[in-house]
Amino acid sequence: MIVVMKLGSTAQQVEHVVNLVREMGLKDHVIVGEERTVVAVIGNDRFKDRSVLETCEGVDKVVPILAPYKMASREVKKERSIVPLMNGRGNGRSPTIGGQKVGVIAGPCSVESKAQILEIAHMMKAAGAVGLRGGAFKPRTNPYAFQGLAEEGLKYLAEAREQTGLAIVTEVMSIDQIDACCEYADVLQIGARNMQNFNLLNKVGETRKAVLLKRGMSATLEEFLLAAEYIMARGNTNVILCERGIRTFEDYVRNTLPLAIVPELHRVSHLPVVVDPSHGTGKSYLVESMCKAAVAAGADGLIVEVHADPEHALTDGAQSMTPQGFAEMMASVKRVASAVDREL
Ligand code: PEP
Ligand code: MN
Repeated sequence: MIVVMKLGSTAQQVEHVVNLVREMGLKDHVIVGEERTVVAVIGNDRFKDRSVLETCEGVDKVVPILAPYKMASREVKKERSIVPLMNGRGNGRSPTIGGQKVGVIAGPCSVESKAQILEIAHMMKAAGAVGLRGGAFKPRTNPYAFQGLAEEGLKYLAEAREQTGLAIVTEVMSIDQIDACCEYADVLQIGARNMQNFNLLNKVGETRKAVLLKRGMSATLEEFLLAAEYIMARGNTNVILCERGIRTFEDYVRNTLPLAIVPELHRVSHLPVVVDPSHGTGKSYLVESMCKAAVAAGADGLIVEVHADPEHALTDGAQSMTPQGFAEMMASVKRVASAVDREL
């Protein structure tokens, strides 16, 4: 349930509500909105007595949250969330995802060498990206395929941030990788294959790093938001949702990219939404069109794979744009962004 405070309610009145919520054995999440303050009550509140809260001074009303996810729900927070990509770094000048500006994260699927990641980082920065992607731990279908450079790759990414100022986005596949990823990177990516790895979600929920949560390839929208809820329930509200395509019967693309999820997620959740047209299509020649379509549909950001030499990429070459293709894509997406009152 949500306790909606009256306009002009005092800090003491809010504190009193919070104390009562805790006495009920439930968790509170206070959201100070532009107009009024609400206290979201988190936990199983089905058999709790609402009237105790309804009669408190300063309380306007108590309303149930209908969605199974709470903190991720638009019912709890009407205003769209803006997530800083470099939480705890960047001296308060961190790039963000979720505001007026569409944030673009770009880079190779995997970190392959120091020279490779530094070269591409400078090119991505010059073309207008705000974040650099690159996997150091790679979830590969085939156990004999390149598995990533691990901690060495993370160090190269950190150096790329030093040189360019780009926020570093990298995948964390297991709990034991979290500390190293937090040390070197800025945004923890939870891959599609781990969207329902609840132990991992809980642990990244204990950090305060921005989390890019990719939709599982057979997850429903509700399951996607419940995965976000796991992270938020542990106190980390810096969650960015990422649509990366789902498995269907269709085989002309690697995955089917359902862009209707962008306005639907915005309708039911306040979290920012990023689209990944690289994994969403698997074909580099389809990426620019899907970037434009995603921004037209309201996406708050894009994550795109780019490689200086896609033919020789160790992973996901077929869906990687060239740096030149990326720069051209940025120019055309800029026009779409301004048509829908956004910036790039
Ligand atoms: C990736 O970003 O390279 C990746 C493995 O993504 P996904 O989890 O969406 O397959
Ligand atoms: Mn990839």
